[in-house]
Amino acid sequence: MWTDSHCHLDAPEFGADGGSIAQRAAQLGVGWIVIPAVATANFAAVAALAHRQSNCAYALGIHPIFVPQAQESDLAVLRQSVAAAMADSRLVAIGEIGLDFFVPELKAAAMAEKQTHFYREQLKIARDFGLPVLLHARRAQDLILKQLRAISVPGGIAHAFNGSLQQAQAFIDLGFKLGFGGALTFPRALQLRRLAANLPLEAIVLETDAPDMAPVWLHPARNSPQQLPRIGQLLAELRGQAASDVARITSANVLAVLPRLAHLAGAAHLPESL
Ligand SMILES: [Zn+2]
Repeated sequence: MWTDSHCHLDAPEFGADGGSIAQRAAQLGVGWIVIPAVATANFAAVAALAHRQSNCAYALGIHPIFVPQAQESDLAVLRQSVAAAMADSRLVAIGEIGLDFFVPELKAAAMAEKQTHFYREQLKIARDFGLPVLLHARRAQDLILKQLRAISVPGGIAHAFNGSLQQAQAFIDLGFKLGFGGALTFPRALQLRRLAANLPLEAIVLETDAPDMAPVWLHPARNSPQQLPRIGQLLAELRGQAASDVARITSANVLAVLPRLAHLAGAAHLPESL
């Protein structure tokens, strides 16, 4: 069984097909799909999708790329939505949150400050509710880590990880797993491949980030969670391990770092290695 720890199944690119795509992914062995929110406007959509599909769970948060349009009041909306959803077993994390200093319009001083404010305030919400976080970090690994050291949350996932070995270790030390996906499939991604091959498997989770981050065999077409087994197979080849071990351990890693998903999945399904 594979686990897609990060998939935007409610994205407009999927139209109304998110549900059937989740079902087809399940037939290919994708046992769980975690759907992060990106703005208050899609909180209801991600929750509804996770409720319609037996293999889906969701997270609530404001993505850094949506911070320019976000209002201060959206943070209160997030806090209220999370408070209301704590009784909902399908809510498993706060996300997608973080910092993006790759997108030019997000780098200007005022916007960098607004991003940092939204990131910090959302970490506080995660801390207050005891929820793990799904992190987006582009050109911002050290700043992401700096805030994690200041506002302590119960771990989570550094999604689409693309930092150094030292930064990877810093996330691991803070209770995080590192998310790898389609970027691995590009033969020229030498540094990323080396990292994914050499990190302990216990530190790695798989993700598609669909509809984005299409693997090389689809690029630039729309990505989907159905690609996860093939991406996982490639990781297994890079590591010289059996695909079945990579599937089992990376899935267990997601459950280890998202305890509410583990609860949803049922403790009986946890492998003995945990
Ligand atoms: Zn994402």
